[in-house]
Amino acid sequence: MNIIFFGPPAAGKGTQAKILQDKYGLQQLSTGDMLREEIANATPLGAKMKALMDDGQLVPDSVVVEMIAGRIDSSDCAKGAIFDGFPRTQAQAQALDEMLAERGKKIDRVIELIVDFDALSARVEKRAAEEGRSDDNVTTFKKRLDQYKSYSKEVLPYYRDKDLTQSVDGMADIDDVTAQILAIVSPKAV
Ligand code: AMP
Repeated sequence: MNIIFFGPPAAGKGTQAKILQDKYGLQQLSTGDMLREEIANATPLGAKMKALMDDGQLVPDSVVVEMIAGRIDSSDCAKGAIFDGFPRTQAQAQALDEMLAERGKKIDRVIELIVDFDALSARVEKRAAEEGRSDDNVTTFKKRLDQYKSYSKEVLPYYRDKDLTQSVDGMADIDDVTAQILAIVSPKAV
């Protein structure tokens, strides 16, 4: 099965995706992680994307679509994938649908993590202060949050129209969020 985890930065998408990956053998595909890997490996693509990412802006659709296309046929995706941080535009969503349809697959569920934006900002500010990180982190975070507010308005309706979205309370404890997600996913995964 193929799932999309949809939620703002720092909402716990990555944590929950890893739990689901371990439980069902679904592969987490995070475009943010893939981009950070490009930067860590000092590739030309990474160098090009870094400024956009540091500024909290989206990278071009073609870049992330190609990254996903390059991973989707890997054997670790045989049981399905958990898309984390992708798609972020309607063009990406359409490209993903086409990519999956060509392979006789589809998106089964879009799980939206509902969070309180103010509480999330406060959490990130607190973490930055505790870790002695610069204000840049908080500023960038707020930009990414604004980005989320705008792109979620574009992407969520696309999946709501297809009746694929289900929401979970992302402010609950990690275990509780996992339980909510499993209640949505388990009947389809087993
Ligand atoms: P993330 O870790 O998913 O929050 O992604 C970190 C950054 O990578 C984002 O703020 C964007 O600059 C970029 N990025 C990741 N995924 C996408 C995507 N699907 N579309 C455009 N930009 C992305």
